[in-house]
Amino acid sequence: MYNPKSLRAVDFIDHQEILDTLDYAAKNKTNKELIRQILDKAKQLKGLNHREASVLLACEIPALNEEIFHLAEQIKKDFYGNRIVLFAPLYLSNYCVNGCVYCPYHLKNKHMPRIKLTQKQIREEVIALQDMGHKRLAIETGEDPVHNPIEYILDSIKTIYSIKHKNGAIRRVNVNIAATTVENYRKLKDAGIGTYILFQETYNRKSYEKLHPTGPKHDYTWHAEAMDRAMLGGIDDVGLGVLFGLESYRYEFAALLMHAEHLEATFGVGPHTISFPRIKKADDIDPSAFDNGIDDDIFSKIIACVRISTPYTGMIVSTRESQACRERIIRYGISQISGASRTSVGGYTQTQRPHDSEQFDVSDQRTLDEVVCWLLKMGYIPSFCTACYRAGRTGDRFMALCKSRQILNCCHPNALMTLKEFLLDYGSFETREVGERVIQEQLQQIENEAVKNATVCYLSKIDAGQRDFHF
Ligand code: SF4
Ligand code: SF4
Repeated sequence: MYNPKSLRAVDFIDHQEILDTLDYAAKNKTNKELIRQILDKAKQLKGLNHREASVLLACEIPALNEEIFHLAEQIKKDFYGNRIVLFAPLYLSNYCVNGCVYCPYHLKNKHMPRIKLTQKQIREEVIALQDMGHKRLAIETGEDPVHNPIEYILDSIKTIYSIKHKNGAIRRVNVNIAATTVENYRKLKDAGIGTYILFQETYNRKSYEKLHPTGPKHDYTWHAEAMDRAMLGGIDDVGLGVLFGLESYRYEFAALLMHAEHLEATFGVGPHTISFPRIKKADDIDPSAFDNGIDDDIFSKIIACVRISTPYTGMIVSTRESQACRERIIRYGISQISGASRTSVGGYTQTQRPHDSEQFDVSDQRTLDEVVCWLLKMGYIPSFCTACYRAGRTGDRFMALCKSRQILNCCHPNALMTLKEFLLDYGSFETREVGERVIQEQLQQIENEAVKNATVCYLSKIDAGQRDFHF
């Protein structure tokens, strides 16, 4: 029985509720009056529930679909302005005991070289990332209690935060590791992580069990209830996601929003982020073997509908997507992207991109400087801001600031100051030229005089060699 407040996955991701939602959406896909009512509600910027959102996703009236995209664009501007936060994944180990059929790190892949970075190698990888200009990482490992125990993850986080190379520093480590216990989540919290990210892959229990035939990840309930345990362990910023292409996208869409509603109903805080990976080619993985692939049009519509439904949630897309696709979907809601990613263990210290141990093929292979320059030329402000969790703005505190849009008073100047650091320390001549111009223009957009003056003051201190100012 559907109950968003229950702590049991079987209740908050209720299969029948999803089927009923899809049925309701299909029946109303041309119901102009209802769709208009939902759009009017969405314009109040308080979000939509999974049923309303599913109707928008199903909408088949071209003029209203245009309105959906237009509204998503507007909400993106209202909540996130023109800033895009940048990060990189850091793969620590690809040892894995699971059997996920869509991932080349599955246990049965015997020709995949297995690598686990030592703390010395992590240091080298982090220095390579710092030398590009990265400040925010997402660490990734396979699930393997022998090779990748929680102590290894904790040591690695400590190592990463401790490295200060030239003007570089990793200021926020997000963690994407297997579902674990409340006790381990508490340890991660104490280690100072940013967001805990875990993709459900698919919310459809039957498909999930087939796609995860062996290993601890086979347990749907353990996996789907992981965010509750993370919250109970004190982690209040969690990141959701599904791997689009595994199951029907309409099913995943409704369930993803139900999961978000559950977190909000139970802990008073919705997800900090939602990620949007689509299945991609990799060693021994052929995406055409999965028959639920979605094209760029549907992908864009999903992004737009999630943006409208959860205005306060950060939305992430990785380098799985091409430059052209990223260009399109950033408009409709994406607020964070990865740049210059290497998806193999130890990849950042190799001169050539290694392909034999990649988790997936990287579509957007540009350097970080190229990505920054591209964003600037499109009118966005690339941001390396990590201020919130360092200033204690997490969980419900963060959400309250986000909902009242007061957070914008921090995001905008922080974006300009971190961009300035990037330009001075890592930017090419061209990027620096475009970036400096954008900073001067965007300073004028800061309405609060005191904040504007303080930003000008900090920018000149950054010019003089100081680093790490934030609001
Ligand atoms: S998706 Fe994660 S758990 Fe599954 S095989 Fe890949 S690394 Fe292991
Ligand atoms: S101020 Fe907070 S919400 Fe805004 S970009 Fe920085 S970390 Fe993100």
